Amino acid sequence: MPLRVMFNMNLYPFVSITPNWPKLGVEFKDISPLLADPDAFAFAVDAMYPPNVQNVDYWVGIESRGFLFAAALAQRFHHGLLMIRKKGKLPPPTVDLDYALEYGTDTIQMRKGEGRVVIVDDVLATGGTLKAAHDLCVRAGYDVVGYSCLVNLTFLHQQRPFCINSIPVHTVIDY
Ligand code: AMP
Repeated sequence: MPLRVMFNMNLYPFVSITPNWPKLGVEFKDISPLLADPDAFAFAVDAMYPPNVQNVDYWVGIESRGFLFAAALAQRFHHGLLMIRKKGKLPPPTVDLDYALEYGTDTIQMRKGEGRVVIVDDVLATGGTLKAAHDLCVRAGYDVVGYSCLVNLTFLHQQRPFCINSIPVHTVIDY
């Protein structure tokens, strides 16, 4: 477990909100201002370490904004980094998983391996992406011990906290 930061910081001003983008009815949460501020980014990374999760081997970043936080967590806590990529970005051999989107399906890929992993993304919306990432990690041989997202769109799911296979998804900023 990390040494927790001793100060508190309001991260809401570092997330900019764009209504009706990329489509009508969506409020896009853009984490660019947070990444651009070294204090806010450092605070966010410490706050993203899920409580009660120990002996992490790898932080798994989901393409593409998940990479930013997973890489920072891996460096900060001296663990490894793994990538879940969209189809066609990793050379073979890969383990693949098809999953349902609102319209159609998508395929994600990663390398086979083993160890205890925490799956990381920027935003938890419906949870479909994290669930697919979980299934891919299991298929690839990993033991999923936690989840972390910076932003939680709580109005999109009923469950509190949102869990995948009984493991809570740790989040930092709620809307
Ligand atoms: P979901 O699978 O519905 O939980 O969607 C999560 C994925 O979609 C994450 O990779 C987010 O980056 C992205 N996402 C979904 N909704 C938003 C939003 N309102 N603002 C920013 N990113 C979003």
